Amino acid sequence: MTNDCKECNGAGVTVKFDKTHEIFVREDCITCALEERYREQLFKRLSSSLSKASVERLAKTLAGLVIEISSDEVLDRLDGYSKSKEYDNMFALISVIGEMIK
Ligand SMILES: [Zn+2]
Repeated sequence: MTNDCKECNGAGVTVKFDKTHEIFVREDCITCALEERYREQLFKRLSSSLSKASVERLAKTLAGLVIEISSDEVLDRLDGYSKSKEYDNMFALISVIGEMIK
């Protein structure tokens, strides 16, 4: 589901007129469903490719990406978690950065 979907404007559903029953029906947006499926498949392919890299290379790439896209507030929190060795909190925050910058 994307906000720039021309079919549903991000609602994830479209309303169509059913001529047989003469009623309006809500249907899942096919464009969004296809986009979501593509992203799921891309996630699997990229994960598979990245699994061939070393832990050090993955860690440096992820750290660089996180620093590049995060706000100062998020970076301060990550720095705090890193210093106090709160790795679960650090990963939890990293895993939602994508949602925070949308
Ligand atoms: Zn849509």
